[in-house]
Amino acid sequence: MSVALTDRLDRVVGAKAADALEEHFGILTVDDLLRHYPRRYSQGMSVLEDGWEPPEEGEHVTFVDVIAKADVRWTNRQPKREFLVITLKNSKPKVTATFFNARWTKNILVPKTRLMLSGEVGFFNGTMQLTHPAFLVLEGAGEGKGSKSLAKIAETSREPDGALSLEGFQRDYFPIYPASAKVQSWDLYACVRQVLAVLDPIEDPLPESVVRQRHLMSEDEALRAIHLAEKPEDRERARERLAFDEAVGLQWALVERRHGALSETGPPAPSRDDGVAAAVARQLPFELTAGQRAVLEVVTAELAETKPMHRMLQGEVGSGKTIVSVLAMAQMVDAGYQCALLAPTEVLAAQHERSIRSVLGPLAMAGELGGADGAIGVALLTGSMTAQRKRQVREQVASGHAGIVIGTHALLQDAVEFHNLGMVVVDEQHRFGVEQRDRLRAKAVGDVTPHLLVMTATPIPRTVALTVYGDLETSVLRELPRGRQPIATNTIFVGQRPTWLQRAWQRIVEEVTAGRQAYVVASRIDEDDGKEPGRKKAGREPGPPVTTVVEQYERLGQGPLKGLRLGLMHGRLSGDEKDAVMSAFRAGDIDVLVCTTVIEVGVDVPNATVMVVLDADRFGISQLHQLRGRIGRGEHPSLCLLATNLPEDSRAGARLKAVASTLDGFELADLDLAERREGDVLGLTQSGRPITLRLLSLHEHRELIESARAFAESVYEADPRLARHPGIAMLAAPFAETERVEYLDKA
Ligand code: ADP
Ligand code: MG
Repeated sequence: MSVALTDRLDRVVGAKAADALEEHFGILTVDDLLRHYPRRYSQGMSVLEDGWEPPEEGEHVTFVDVIAKADVRWTNRQPKREFLVITLKNSKPKVTATFFNARWTKNILVPKTRLMLSGEVGFFNGTMQLTHPAFLVLEGAGEGKGSKSLAKIAETSREPDGALSLEGFQRDYFPIYPASAKVQSWDLYACVRQVLAVLDPIEDPLPESVVRQRHLMSEDEALRAIHLAEKPEDRERARERLAFDEAVGLQWALVERRHGALSETGPPAPSRDDGVAAAVARQLPFELTAGQRAVLEVVTAELAETKPMHRMLQGEVGSGKTIVSVLAMAQMVDAGYQCALLAPTEVLAAQHERSIRSVLGPLAMAGELGGADGAIGVALLTGSMTAQRKRQVREQVASGHAGIVIGTHALLQDAVEFHNLGMVVVDEQHRFGVEQRDRLRAKAVGDVTPHLLVMTATPIPRTVALTVYGDLETSVLRELPRGRQPIATNTIFVGQRPTWLQRAWQRIVEEVTAGRQAYVVASRIDEDDGKEPGRKKAGREPGPPVTTVVEQYERLGQGPLKGLRLGLMHGRLSGDEKDAVMSAFRAGDIDVLVCTTVIEVGVDVPNATVMVVLDADRFGISQLHQLRGRIGRGEHPSLCLLATNLPEDSRAGARLKAVASTLDGFELADLDLAERREGDVLGLTQSGRPITLRLLSLHEHRELIESARAFAESVYEADPRLARHPGIAMLAAPFAETERVEYLDKA
């Protein structure tokens, strides 16, 4: 039989096994199966399916071990029946297995027998128990005997003379596959062995020069070794090779998408000396930083092109991204186009409108009394507006009267039509999915694809920028405008030092007395609030009960902060209520804002100088960094206090100390990445399947990802249709329908 990677599996392993593989894992072809890589390798000892943690009740596990003890017992009830209990030798915690067909098994499963066991875990008095698991004797008197499912595997490797071949089982290492109760690791192992026995030599998908230059194992060797190599070094090299394949596949998909976008038609907007953009630049109350000027230079040039800009602007909180976007939008308006600025919350949208109006001054008052010549119409559209007001705004947008339209998700609705949309700015990108921003871009007239600028205050590690956001160019604003004060950050381990929290409240009182303002942040609104914890996956690190904003608001107002003016802010207030609280805080009529993470992004109150984060362990690294960015925005030194009930030597304690130790967002982003699982970073495909990076780690494989990117770019230049590199299309196939989603929302 001659078998190739692209062949369907039923030819090789039979219809029944092939159906099961398809149903449970979506595995259709030989290639799919061989890329269902082992999760790890058992070293002839106990192996739990799911990594290091003990399995939970009902989970499916597989062991390879030796029998330490075998006891025949009798059931209590009539009719009395014999059963066999074996205890494994090396497994910790202790593992026993029970068999009811003792009459047969007691002769086979005797002490010193080496065997595999596979079944559902139960617990009894702390002992892990498998009840009637599948088994296969690997060494001992009953060699080759076992339950049907496993014996079948031995069957499939019959010697030519018809004798059972145990070669496949007599080894030091076994691949352990991601498996299910219906298709166990052993079933996969059997299929893989069958396939590899008949597979033709695999052609290398990468050019020989690349393989040689990177000292890679050949594809043929790697796809075999990752499953069956006995030597750890060989498996390691195989993984390295296949990780590079994966990186190339992913980068090819992204490079192709980006070049596809580049071939679209964009709205050209050459910059002018006599327009609003130039006038705004002249009247700014401050000087742009070198970083802002550099980014603007690039953006200005790209907006003048007939290709749509596709750029992400990353900048530390407070680095002044907004003004960059305002000048870019003004350039578009000067050329006769409209711009949309999409903000994640109503608070932010309203704040943008206010700050854009104040930057533009009379230049934002088109058609209004005192408006300048050629002024821009600025409009705000949010969901909480009255229907009538919304209609008015929509008319201004449709007529083209509004040159800059700021809004929340409300902007995405079908009823919103633009006269001549030329640019979309998305603030705090991670709050929006790609499909949302594309929905907005689709509102352009004709075949024009608007320019796109996405702004994020979350520093994004290079590998994430290259993968999750791989189709966007990136610009970075590293420096903060002059005159900013540093933020000191301290951790408070409340359990160990309860008085420190008292001290924190005192600090707030002192700052307020000196004319400053403060934030107190909690992770939950009230007792009913399960939805607004910082970490979505609650229970990762179990801890003491979590406080709420409502509780704190009352407690602080009657106790430690008595006499100060407190405001309460959270996501369940109405739009009007939120506006009122934010305006009061901004105006200095509220001293202390007790709030949830609704204030996380973008809120700008320079007079706020202290922040106390309660249950700080509930938040991810990047999120804490974001929160902290709300202070230190004015001329006064600021203080951020991260309080937790967890002990200092917990994982959360270490995380908080890391946040306290640096203000460098990129450093923190790398730490954050190290803590996450890749799946959390990458999100889902369009069809809702999780994007799986099988071997590639965004945390560990930076060099590899960068060179895969460079390689993909060079191939695209020379051979965009892959006429000479057909193997790359195959590597890219799993990523072709990739849809990245919110990166940070998963923090
Ligand atoms: P972010 O990048 O976090 O969105 P903003 O755009 O909100 O930051 O800017 C923060 C503050 O800094 C705003 O009050 C803005 O007016 C001010 N700002 C921006 N650029 C400069 C600059 N070059 N010099 C001084 N202040 C600036
Ligand atoms: Mg901002």
